[in-house]
Amino acid sequence: MDKNSAPSKIGILGGGQLGRMLLQEAANYTVETWVMENDDQCPAAHLCHHFVKGDIKNFNDVYAFGKKLDALTIEIENVNTEALEKLESEGVKIYPHPSVLKTIRNKILQKEYYKKHEIPTPEFRVTANLDELKEAADFLPAVHKIGEGGYDGRGVQLLKEREDLAKGFDVPSVLEKMVVIDKEIALMVGVNDKGETAVYPPVEMSFDKDLNLLDYQLCPALLDEKILWKIEAIALAVVRNFKSPGIFAVELFVDRKGDVLVNETAPRVHNSGHHTIEAHFSSQFDMLWRIMLGYPLGNTAAILSSIMINIIGAEGSSGDVIYEGLDEILKIENAFVHLYGKKQTKPGRKMGHVTIVSREKQDLTHKANIVKRKLKAKA
Ligand code: ADP
Repeated sequence: MDKNSAPSKIGILGGGQLGRMLLQEAANYTVETWVMENDDQCPAAHLCHHFVKGDIKNFNDVYAFGKKLDALTIEIENVNTEALEKLESEGVKIYPHPSVLKTIRNKILQKEYYKKHEIPTPEFRVTANLDELKEAADFLPAVHKIGEGGYDGRGVQLLKEREDLAKGFDVPSVLEKMVVIDKEIALMVGVNDKGETAVYPPVEMSFDKDLNLLDYQLCPALLDEKILWKIEAIALAVVRNFKSPGIFAVELFVDRKGDVLVNETAPRVHNSGHHTIEAHFSSQFDMLWRIMLGYPLGNTAAILSSIMINIIGAEGSSGDVIYEGLDEILKIENAFVHLYGKKQTKPGRKMGHVTIVSREKQDLTHKANIVKRKLKAKA
């Protein structure tokens, strides 16, 4: 791509908060941006040069959208990969390759990928239906995960004892041995067209057990150096074997014995990289533009430690959103507020996030608790 000629035309399939934050970074470069989503009021709609209303799962919509572009990326896995394959064969660059999307969005194929490449992951079996699952009592305690279509914990069922088997899914799924988790870790890796990689420091995640959504996340994760090396080596093995440029979030478990197991990978910018906007020299969004525009990879190092808290729609409250406590949060030193511009809130919906940076871990957790206590997205 000639960087001095006309701006590259790059499209994003999906117009949610990830697309929105990607577009915020695009403004630093010479790039003409396109977004396709079926809702013209979506978070990314007014930040791109060209908004196209369309269905990202529909072949014709995706093909028509992509064929006038130099490159395409995604902010959600569930897009029409046949259209992306055709576009790729016609010379449009796709980040990540559609073959990677197909492997990742099906948990059965994803787990088989880890096995094939000898990447440590919780032991698993594939179950075609509920009858097959009911034969698997010897494998309990386990976690049943729907093959396709699950997200944010929907499509994940804990099965502790024989009586729980009936709660499993009656469609092709993965049954995974339950891991006694010490820490849940995520780490972002950027890969350019030449296969060079840029690895971010791992983050430590804590989950809202009721909603199964990321509750807060600390960076850098507090880990022994040996475990840290293992995590980086495993994440690099996951990403390198895809043989695809793009940006990837690898989620891993550290168990009580200090073993590291891959839980899952997302082939795109990710919630576990939001803190990189303020806390790192090159954010995950900046990194993806550098990759797609053919520029050098950015510096992944942290400027300061950080904590990130999602702003989640409050329980029992749906409708036009108001942000209670916002003024107070904006007064906190080194707290950065991101509201995603969603007009309507509902329980569990991701409405925004807050990143806090500091030299002191105690300061981070203290301020994060204030955010969690005082800031509410409700109707
Ligand atoms: P989703 O893709 O919907 O986020 P995950 O596969 O990440 O689903 O699972 C959601 C959560 O369930 C994880 O963050 C983890 O806390 C728990 N979990 C998943 N797999 C296992 C496992 N094998 N053992 C123990 N807990 C697990």
